[in-house]
Amino acid sequence: MNFDDYRGVWVFLEEKDGGIAPVSLELLGAGRQLADKRKTLLSGVLIGEGITDLAETAFEYGADQVFVYDDPIYRHYRTEAFMRAMLACVEKHKPEILLYGATSTGKDLASAVATDLPTGLTADTTQLDVEQDTGLLLASRPAFGGNIMATILCKKYRPQMATVRPKVMKALPREPGRTGTIIAESIPLKETDVRTKVLEIVRATTRRVRIDEADIIVSGGKGLGSPQGFQLIHTLAETLGAAVGASRDVVEAGWIGHHHQVGQTGVTVTPKIYFAIGISGAIQHLVGMQNSGLIIAINKDPKAPIFQSCHYGIVGDAMEIVPMLIEGFQSA
Ligand code: FAD
Repeated sequence: MNFDDYRGVWVFLEEKDGGIAPVSLELLGAGRQLADKRKTLLSGVLIGEGITDLAETAFEYGADQVFVYDDPIYRHYRTEAFMRAMLACVEKHKPEILLYGATSTGKDLASAVATDLPTGLTADTTQLDVEQDTGLLLASRPAFGGNIMATILCKKYRPQMATVRPKVMKALPREPGRTGTIIAESIPLKETDVRTKVLEIVRATTRRVRIDEADIIVSGGKGLGSPQGFQLIHTLAETLGAAVGASRDVVEAGWIGHHHQVGQTGVTVTPKIYFAIGISGAIQHLVGMQNSGLIIAINKDPKAPIFQSCHYGIVGDAMEIVPMLIEGFQSA
């Protein structure tokens, strides 16, 4: 494999609700830094139906060029169809680095593409850097249950691929009017070539807000005392239209599922407002929420470490304070 044939940093631009998914914009921000360091182009890859216009958004967030596969066959995400388009693009244009958001679509596509290319994939990355001279991607992620950060290298193959967790990279400020090059691509793919069919899309009916997208998160810890006590967190979250978060100890106690866990071995979140209720503020929790806009802590121990990391702190019993907050917000 001749590494000189492989150039450029690419981002898979995931379409979401008619726009580019926030994680893809974050990756354009991270990708811009890598591309500048390597003095190379930052490219996006858009796959879908009627999505060509989204390239303009990608340019405004840092892309120099966007490869577009715009065809009705890509109306819905299907592994096989998207994988065929991505493989064709990679084989033709040979990127040095290819990044995907660690969403269900990004993870599925990246692993499918990785099985067909003679290269590896670093999953769930939280830090990215590149060696300026060699182009070696330094993709780091928590390993061994979060006890160490492992930097994973792909020394022998190209492209170097990674999925990156949402909310850990920063999108660049939008630069209205910034332009780039759209490269329209297509492959001879017929409906009969794709073995899966989307029969129906059923939208989730739950009113619960997703933790990785929420503006407000109400998180509870072991200080709530029991699953019944933790119900207060659900009620306050529902009152505020917020998502429910939790410490690892709560998840391990089985009070709530793992996808609500905030922290080093859970989700990284950056909501506008983060309530930490009955949470001690262990470092492993803090790393997952410390970049939130406003952190409000409630803890009965005035010496709890969380008070070192919050903007507002209430010292007191959550069993008394949270019902008062719920009542106050409900009547507001
Ligand atoms: P506790 O530490 O038990 O704290 C409970 C808090 O509630 C105390 O501060 C107490 O004063 C307060 N309290 C008690 N009663 C009340 C009351 N009535 N009203 C108000 N306050 C009250 N943790 C995470 O959260 N996320 C992670 O991703 C994570 N990853 C980890 C990875 C590794 C490798 C390791 C070793 C640990 C990890 N942990 C993680 C665990 C972390 O170290 C802590 O053990 C955990 O965050 C503590 O959870 P907690 O604050 O809910 O519980």
